[in-house]
Amino acid sequence: MKKFKLTPRIKRRLDRLFSKYILGRANRICERCGAIGVKCDTAHIIPRPVIGLRWCPENALCLCVKCHKYGVDSFHQNPLAFYRWFSGAFGEEHITKLLKASEVEVTFSAEDVEEIEEMLKIA
Ligand SMILES: [Zn+2]
Repeated sequence: MKKFKLTPRIKRRLDRLFSKYILGRANRICERCGAIGVKCDTAHIIPRPVIGLRWCPENALCLCVKCHKYGVDSFHQNPLAFYRWFSGAFGEEHITKLLKASEVEVTFSAEDVEEIEEMLKIA
């Protein structure tokens, strides 16, 4: 098999598609506070450097910037408060599943990237 490298360019392309997918899945409504018509971000639960979960829909939410980064009880400002909300909304099993998946070493092939692209485009 030909050697494949997940270049920054490919990552950016997948990031753009992934963000469109996550925001579209939620109709650009903040999944935490329900805000409509405000700027929303794609927020990763397990951070993006964990490459195996970077484009995993179960690992991301559509959040308004207040819930994501800037509010006093936002994901970035107050991770514990966010965690409490997240575990209540999605369940401890979901968190356990993500943490387990984050421990797995993942490498991507060209076919994997194609598959991810197809999955994200279908939405
Ligand atoms: Zn919000």
